[in-house]
Amino acid sequence: MRVNCPNCGSKATITSREEQSEHVCNLYVSCTNTKECGATFVSTLAFAHYLNPPRKDTAQMAASLLKNFSREEQMELVGF
Ligand SMILES: [Zn+2]
Repeated sequence: MRVNCPNCGSKATITSREEQSEHVCNLYVSCTNTKECGATFVSTLAFAHYLNPPRKDTAQMAASLLKNFSREEQMELVGF
């Protein structure tokens, strides 16, 4: 993961991280342009949303939907 300094735009290095919650953490970052800048800062990294749900979730969703149908309808739906 690449982080740039908000002050000078140089590449910055993540020195440590602090979990805020299950899907959010603060990254402690140092600018590598030590001669002209040398800033240190905190950036927040957060999970936003899935583009594709995990396979297991999709299978569970399909299984729970199938329970609403009779055995014959289930067979028909899955193509047997
Ligand atoms: Zn900088």
